[in-house]
Amino acid sequence: MTKALVIGGGIAGCATAIALQAVGYEPVVYEAYPAGGDDAGAFLTVMGNGMAALRALDAHRPVIAGSYPAASVEIYDAGGRLLETRGIGDADDAGPRTLLRSTLYRALQGEAVSRGVRIEHGRRLVHAGMIAGGGVRATFADGGSAAGDILVGADGIHSATRTLIDPDAPRPRYTGQAVVYGYASSVPAPTAPDAYHMIFGSRAFFGYTAAPDGRTWWFARIPGPQAGPSTITAAQWRERALLAFADDASPAAAVIRATGDDVTGGDSYDVPTTPIWHRGSMVLAGDAAHAASPAAAQGASMALEDAVALARCLREQTDAAGAFAAYEAIRREPTEQTVAASAQMSRLGTSSPYADPVD
Ligand SMILES: Cc1cc2nc3c(=O)[nH]c(=O)nc-3n(C[C@H](O)[C@H](O)[C@H](O)COP(=O)(O)OP(=O)(O)OC[C@H]3O[C@@H](n4cnc5c(N)ncnc54)[C@H](O)[C@@H]3O)c2cc1C
Repeated sequence: MTKALVIGGGIAGCATAIALQAVGYEPVVYEAYPAGGDDAGAFLTVMGNGMAALRALDAHRPVIAGSYPAASVEIYDAGGRLLETRGIGDADDAGPRTLLRSTLYRALQGEAVSRGVRIEHGRRLVHAGMIAGGGVRATFADGGSAAGDILVGADGIHSATRTLIDPDAPRPRYTGQAVVYGYASSVPAPTAPDAYHMIFGSRAFFGYTAAPDGRTWWFARIPGPQAGPSTITAAQWRERALLAFADDASPAAAVIRATGDDVTGGDSYDVPTTPIWHRGSMVLAGDAAHAASPAAAQGASMALEDAVALARCLREQTDAAGAFAAYEAIRREPTEQTVAASAQMSRLGTSSPYADPVD
């Protein structure tokens, strides 16, 4: 059986392992973190295209079970006036779903393991190279190594595989914004259970959703200088978010005030283009190949689509180089367009593109 070394046990990695196994590969996932790619704090929406990819893998059920629908977005200005209500998909199981990023990781890891995929935790890739005569060898920070026929770098926005494939690959770019996530224990400004309430604030962008756990899940995108590796506490992130919305007549400040220490934040980055997606037996998937800023809410969905496309190409062409070229031909253009669109949305920041409110 053809062995695939999948680097990264996040969204792209687990989905790719599931997809490769379905087309006859023997995938093994190597995840850097000891407990798996858990990511404290953030939540996200898997859009309709991502749900379709999950369905193609028959891996949608645990994701639906751990999530709730996100059918529409209500957009407001800093004064609290409704600018637009926009449908983003169906409120049924096929439409967009909101869930904690850690829940999505766990659902996909569980699904992969239940299908017999081995996931090795605490294995951080540090080097990979071709084996004379064919195949690839990965070396890990713990000194161990593994050999396979192909290697899929699904190791996220700060991908080591990307740099191993091309030492000159562009580094992630700071978007000019920090993203703060919080969970308010009460719902001071209810919104429809399957809707996002988004606000073009006077200094920052705010969004919230009323989750079935009774809390208000919120995020803020706040323009400012890059903080770097963060030592900022939950209380400091909450204070920074509160300051950004203090002068607005929107519900943002009330939602933030209703939040305890369940707050996290960090700089946001994107990767507009990765010139080389594959070399020899190595190929990139997910954020390792193309990372969008959070604004378009498409990163996870694109990672899931990559997994499906890569496996299809490998099923149709046994020659890895040909399959990787076909995969890149399918995926490069749409993903780069989405990254560019997301960057444009991020740049809009607080300046509402709406001429007038609807009322
Ligand atoms: C603030 C924020 C908000 C977002 N909101 C949304 C949203 O609403 N909707 C959406 O679709 N997307 C959203 N995204 C993007 C989404 O989270 C990513 O696009 C998605 O996680 C990409 O999946 P991935 O598997 O490629 O990378 P990741 O999920 O980052 O997974 C990479 C994995 O590789 C592991 N790893 C890293 N280096 C190594 C190594 N050297 N060796 C072994 N393992 C390694 C990591 O530990 C991790 O588990 C958001 C992102 C951010 C930052």
